[in-house]
Formats: sequence, structure tokens, C-alpha cells
Amino acid sequence: MLIKQIPIRNSLRNYMYLLACENTLEAIAIDPLDHEVCLKTAEKLGWKIKIVANTHHHHDHIGGNAPVIAATQAELVAHAEAIQAIPGINRGLSAGESLECGELVLKVMDTPGHTMSHICLYFAGNSDEKPALFCGDTLFNAGVGRCDFGGEPKTLYKTFADQIFPLADDVRIYPGHDYIENNLEFTLDREPSNKSALSLREQFKNGLDAESFVSDIGLEREINVFFRLGEQKVRSGIAAMINIDIDDLDDRQTFIELRGLRDNW
Ligand SMILES: [Zn+2]
Repeated sequence: MLIKQIPIRNSLRNYMYLLACENTLEAIAIDPLDHEVCLKTAEKLGWKIKIVANTHHHHDHIGGNAPVIAATQAELVAHAEAIQAIPGINRGLSAGESLECGELVLKVMDTPGHTMSHICLYFAGNSDEKPALFCGDTLFNAGVGRCDFGGEPKTLYKTFADQIFPLADDVRIYPGHDYIENNLEFTLDREPSNKSALSLREQFKNGLDAESFVSDIGLEREINVFFRLGEQKVRSGIAAMINIDIDDLDDRQTFIELRGLRDNW
């Protein structure tokens, strides 16, 4: 699979993606908000956009659909239950289905929580390439999506517990926004001596480019506080905050309280 990660550099720091089959150069555009840059990039690479895929219905993800489709006649796909919310969907996708483009195959994951109709697209990898997850606003580098624009924290926790936490460490992460530097600060607020987060923050200060940085699930387990629900420091901080005994706190409630805390942080 050929991957082009494109930072949009708007105030929300969206990423859009072009994924192409290396044999046919047919491509999927994921959440192509900046249609001009998307089309120009595809043209420069010689990729033919056949499919536009939206991870969810928020405007900063679907806002470029119409002009990209007008220019390419691409098929528009999104979560089957987002059909009301996203104009012009040609095909609704459900969990476990394959999304194919040329010889490229992605598996559809149904990942509610940020919104209630949100998909992630999973590339299983092969002998030359590690797996990859295009995760929209479900999972960010060092963070998770917020739930106060049509989502639900307890549903997001279930998505993580059932589908994200079990992923292999070598799955590369391609999120819908570049929020890593702020998110690292939140992890360090909860866990000030987290060595991996401290070291990565230092690397960004020394010029590591956040826009082209790609993490994986193994690194997220170290730097993303939402993956570290059982850590003593994380859990005791939450227990003290909501004034309950640490033994009465479980992963689910820790996750939900962290999400609430991050909303106003
Ligand atoms: Zn969103």
C-alpha cells in the first residue's frame, strides 16, 4: 500500500490521506478536506482517486467531498448509519466488511464513541509492510477523540476495550488530527515521570517534525494516558480527583473520568 499523509494546517490541524494500490495506482482519499491539495497531490503522484471514504460526519472531515468527487467521479463510502448525516453516500459500510481499491484491501471497523457512526480502516500488513490503522477521531497520537459533539465516553471506552487495546504493537497509527504535542502534555500532567512521553516531548522541542511523525500501538501504550488506565499514578490521580477509594475504580471509569478531565484541560 502506498500512503500519503497530508497535513492540512488549518486551525483544527486535520490530516487527510491518500492510499493507493501500488500495482494499479488506484487510490482512496480519506476525509479529503482540502480538495485542492488532495487533487493536486494525487495528480503529482499519478494516483487515480476511485473512492472517497469518510471516517465520520463532522464537517472538518466531509467538507471536501463534493469537489473531489466532481473532479474524479469517485464513489463515496462511509458508515452505513451516517447516510443521513453525510450527503451523497453511495455505499454504507459495516463492521468486518472489506473496502477494496485495486489490489488494496482495508477492513472496516465500527468504532463509535467520538460520534456514534464512526469507522476506522485497518490494513492488515504483509511480509514487507507493517499493519496500519486509519482511525479518524477515534484514536489520536497520545490521546483519544472527544465525545461532546455527538458521541459518548462509555461507548468510546467499549470501542477501545474491544477493538483498539487488542491491536498488535506494530500497527501504525494514522489519525484525523495532529494533536500529539498537546496530548503529550496531558499524559505528563497525569503521569509526570512517564519516561517515553518526556523523551518524545524533548524530541519535538529539538525539531522532530510532528506532522510527519507516525506512532504505533506499542508506542501509544507508553505515551497515551488512555492506554495506561491501570498505572498506579494514573489511577490514584483519578481516585483523588473524584474522591473515591482507588480499589473502587476500574479501567472503564478511569477512562471516562480522563476523557471528562481532558475536555476542560
Ligand atoms: Zn470529529
